[in-house]
Amino acid sequence: MPIVAQTENIFIKTDWRHVLAQSLRSSDELLAALELHPENFPDGLSAAKQFPVLVPRPFMQRMQKGNPRDPLLLQVLPQRVEEEMHPGYTVDPLGEQNTNVATGIIHKYHGRVLLLAASGCAVNCRYCFRRHFPYNENRLARAQWQSALTYIAQDASISEVILSGGDPLMLQDEHLAELIEQISGIEHVQRLRIHSRLPVVIAERLTDQLTEILTATRLRSSLVLHVNHPQELSPLHAERLLKLRQAGVTLLNQTVLLKGVNDTAEVLIELSEQLFNHYLLPYYLHVLDRVQGAQHFDVSSAQAYALYQQMLARLPGYLVPKLVREEAGQPHKTPLHAF
Ligand SMILES: *Cc1c(COP(=O)(O)O)cnc(C)c1O
Ligand code: SF4
Repeated sequence: MPIVAQTENIFIKTDWRHVLAQSLRSSDELLAALELHPENFPDGLSAAKQFPVLVPRPFMQRMQKGNPRDPLLLQVLPQRVEEEMHPGYTVDPLGEQNTNVATGIIHKYHGRVLLLAASGCAVNCRYCFRRHFPYNENRLARAQWQSALTYIAQDASISEVILSGGDPLMLQDEHLAELIEQISGIEHVQRLRIHSRLPVVIAERLTDQLTEILTATRLRSSLVLHVNHPQELSPLHAERLLKLRQAGVTLLNQTVLLKGVNDTAEVLIELSEQLFNHYLLPYYLHVLDRVQGAQHFDVSSAQAYALYQQMLARLPGYLVPKLVREEAGQPHKTPLHAF
């Protein structure tokens, strides 16, 4: 088939792909769109060669023009501090490269596995704990799904498959449907979960077809989004998430606690309330993983716990996420306690 015709076909069928293709890919482009200049960042910007800039336009449009401290901008703009080395910050803080037991599978906790369904993301988050992960080796071409499925089929203790990545919603709906169909063929699997940030930065990704796929399967489905700040949410999110909710998909959210972005009680409380208004329940509030290049986002455990206490004091229990840290070698995410 001629390439041009195929490309047109993709764009007509899935409009989110078109939005994705038009993403901003450099700091210069991003700053120009926001009417900012390098001089607004006296500590310097980074060349970001190793982990390039990638920002979809709808996410950029939710940033405030002329504000160098915008909480959405800070998540995606590479700054020179990323290049500093700090003791205790490593390229694989979770020890995932050791739990990568079969190609594209991370089996760390009882009963559930991560299946790395797609290698890329729609947005490159500067704090990401996978910024150094060897995605390309784990890229599951459709032909390679078989080894992941065989691994799952051979372990009857696995009752939940979590599609992760990269970002699993980078897969086209047709491919996602095919993968889910194959997972549902494994009798002991009961639940399907998708962890994704893509719909946060491009709400159009929540297609009607996605809703159908998640409800047509015998598996109970949940979708965990990754919203860090209330400003990331829009009326289009509410509209699309309501469809998923009405179809019976469980909708949750996880947040990473980030200095300069969401490290105040006011922002975290507003986030929980806005999540609820958008049909999402807060699930986890993660303390930052100690990944090299992200230390400028770190919030101390003592401060994280103090923020959590303020959330407890002001929100209904179901709007308070679990405050956790991911530790290598632990059988579950570790709740943070008072000191
Ligand atoms: C977070 C995580 C899970 C899921 O844990 P839940 O507590 O069930 O949300 C599974 N596997 C890995 C490797 C994880 O990091
Ligand atoms: S895995 Fe998630 S946090 Fe990391 S870059 Fe991709 S979207 Fe961002």
